[in-house]
Amino acid sequence: MNKGLSGIDLAHLTIDDIRRIFSYDDRGLLEEMAHAARELTRRQFGRTISLYAPLYIANYCQNECVYCGFHASSKIIPRSKLAMDEIDRECAALAATGIRSCLILTGESRFHSSPQYIRDACIIAGRYFPYVAVEVYPLEEHEYRELYLAGVDGVTLYQETYDRARYDELHLTGPKKVYDYRVQAPDRIARSGIRHISMGVLLGLTDWHQDIIALFEHVRHLERAYPGVEFGLAFPRLRRVIDDEHHYIEVSDREMVKIMCAARLFFPRAGISISTRETPEFRDRIIEFGVTKMSAGSSTRVGGYVERAEYDDGQFQVFDPRSFDEVKAMLVAKGFDPVVTDWRNIVNS
Ligand code: SF4
Repeated sequence: MNKGLSGIDLAHLTIDDIRRIFSYDDRGLLEEMAHAARELTRRQFGRTISLYAPLYIANYCQNECVYCGFHASSKIIPRSKLAMDEIDRECAALAATGIRSCLILTGESRFHSSPQYIRDACIIAGRYFPYVAVEVYPLEEHEYRELYLAGVDGVTLYQETYDRARYDELHLTGPKKVYDYRVQAPDRIARSGIRHISMGVLLGLTDWHQDIIALFEHVRHLERAYPGVEFGLAFPRLRRVIDDEHHYIEVSDREMVKIMCAARLFFPRAGISISTRETPEFRDRIIEFGVTKMSAGSSTRVGGYVERAEYDDGQFQVFDPRSFDEVKAMLVAKGFDPVVTDWRNIVNS
């Protein structure tokens, strides 16, 4: 048992330990955690970092989330949806950069981006990428099953916040307003056959301490209920708090490091990703402490790789504009082993 200065056994953390850790603001403890997270990540994953890229195929949305520029009533965002031949060209352009792992995204509109549309897009993506995941609105179990049968390997779905009252306040209208339907979606995904589920909260919407603990408890529960499923974690944060009408809460870099390290120590085998919402400087530093996956060469625009590259209509600003090759070069320079594909679905192929 390796109890450091804090008296907490970082190798066998309980949720109560996480509560205690989150309640301290102690530089010594953070350094202990960072050291333990780095060692644990090296033991579990070596020096590998998987690279992937998002591919936005539509940006119609039926919801009014007050923190997002894609919300249904926004007039400043040009709405679009790619046709299948456009999706094919996007996939070809992205694959030509060397990316082999692709995350297909739509806005949350069942009307404009039907399950059939998403499924057809994934079938096309599967011709170019050995790993295809989706980040779309919550589906029914049989619809996830259809995606699985179409070759989808993973689903990303963020609860945004586990604070029910705050959730209700931030999600004004639309299907997303139903908290329970969203929070129960990971169970439906796990039962469908899909093997990878990425979960997270949007940091900045409420007090992060309670949200992260709720997320950890949710994922731990799912790990026990579905031992054949791999769970991943991500911690996107609201970057700029300009209009504070909704009382967004800034999460500092130091708090981000603490969250990442706690995630690694509590979930030794989980994939942890860091998005291009973060700056290159921060991404390059944080990869030492538990990150196993990062996006590279990302566009958050619909058709951003080929079709409509001139429009600046991305869902969020990409703070790390480096190309796939530049991110790879950075990883190699820091002694990491960039991996473009570490998974191939042979059941569905
Ligand atoms: S966060 Fe998602 S669901 Fe909410 S407005 Fe933006 S795109 Fe729509």
